[in-house]
Amino acid sequence: MVGMKTCDYLVIGGGIVGLTTALELKKRHRNAKIVVLEKEKELALHGSGRNSGVLHAGFYYAADSLRARFTRDGNARWKQFVLERGLKINPCGKLVVAKNEQEVEGLYELKRRGDVNGVETYLISLEEAKKIEPRVKSTQMVLWSPSTATVDPRECMAAVASDCQSEGIEIRLDSPYQGRRGNDVIAPQDVYSAGFVVNAAGLHADRVAHDFGVGLRYRILPFKGLYVYGSEPAGSLKTNIYPVPDLRSTFLGVHFTVTVDGQAKIGPTAIPAFWRENYQGLKGFDALEALSILRDEAILFFRNDFNFRGIALEEIKKYSQAYLVSQASALLEGVKPENYRTWGRPGIRAQLYDHQDKRLVMDFMIEGNHQGLHVLNAISPAWTAAMPFAEYVADRAEQLQGGQEVGSGRA
Ligand SMILES: Cc1cc2nc3c(=O)[nH]c(=O)nc-3n(C[C@H](O)[C@H](O)[C@H](O)COP(=O)(O)OP(=O)(O)OC[C@H]3O[C@@H](n4cnc5c(N)ncnc54)[C@H](O)[C@@H]3O)c2cc1C
Repeated sequence: MVGMKTCDYLVIGGGIVGLTTALELKKRHRNAKIVVLEKEKELALHGSGRNSGVLHAGFYYAADSLRARFTRDGNARWKQFVLERGLKINPCGKLVVAKNEQEVEGLYELKRRGDVNGVETYLISLEEAKKIEPRVKSTQMVLWSPSTATVDPRECMAAVASDCQSEGIEIRLDSPYQGRRGNDVIAPQDVYSAGFVVNAAGLHADRVAHDFGVGLRYRILPFKGLYVYGSEPAGSLKTNIYPVPDLRSTFLGVHFTVTVDGQAKIGPTAIPAFWRENYQGLKGFDALEALSILRDEAILFFRNDFNFRGIALEEIKKYSQAYLVSQASALLEGVKPENYRTWGRPGIRAQLYDHQDKRLVMDFMIEGNHQGLHVLNAISPAWTAAMPFAEYVADRAEQLQGGQEVGSGRA
């Protein structure tokens, strides 16, 4: 039987954005009753459990962006968190390499952005870079980011969820948001009368927002991130190695990351996917959803404003393991295809698309009204940025609530 429940804050989505926001709201409103609705039977089944685990440093993003504001601080906050909890971290840094002379200008631009964003980066010679990773391939110049690190996203998610529990935040698993009736939110077992709703539903955040009449000009487009794991012994690769990205796109190009256990992996790709949870086979296929996504992708493909056509055609080739490995081998000496044969668990990026302006939204985006706040674009590196981003979401929630006292005894 469906029960009626009340709470001060109802967070939809138990990914890193939902959980850190719930914790931040609890920190500010000690008496508030906070419930997190998660549609899956366990946490971390989507972006927050399927990412590269890289704590980005914050030098990629334009200075006036939210991503620039939150990535540097988010990196430091995670480091403190994993240290306090005794969680795994690999402080291995990152080298960004220029494959040709044209890309060297890109390294200067990243250095400029790093300086403006207050992020430590160094332009070093290839000789110096080889002291960090002897196998690195580049022109004479390389960018070194010492503060980049990797963590185990699923281990971190479990620790954050455990903090939620200790704080009395109720995480309801297997409880999808199904719709709303006025101010009440409907889940299979319960109907929630919530003081304020925070939508952090990742790949589905646009649908939830639209139900509330918010963000109607936006839809989420899914991009699939494939990984190939290396079989070389742990420690064979000393640091993360990335190419100079195309700064018009939100993706960073195929790269090598080193996991917390020292294992090398190639990826992720950013292949346009045809439905939101297009992880494997036809699981989760929905014809209407696929049609809508295909239409948006076709528009981007034909308009080709930011070379989407070139990017999409290039990305699709990466379904071939041999092609993916050959692309990555431009960054590192001695990459043998026979050592890269194991596909990893893919992830799907939730990328916001503005169908009025026909463009991908390049920064974090939230929109709301007095009923709730909707995290529409928690693109990468929202994992790294999660803690300061949650403060921003909580600030905005408070503004929308008009500074009223929260937690005055909704049972
Ligand atoms: C392949 C890949 C690699 C990445 N690498 C990095 C990286 O190295 N570093 C970095 O900083 N960032 C990285 N990112 C980005 C980062 O993972 C995401 O930005 C971040 O995890 C987004 O968190 P989230 O909470 O918004 O989404 P999610 O983790 O997807 O959480 C949303 C949750 O909402 C739930 N949900 C959805 N619909 C409903 C509903 N109707 N009712 C209830 N619950 C619902 C889902 O089940 C899910 O658990 C990567 C992403 C991908 C896909």
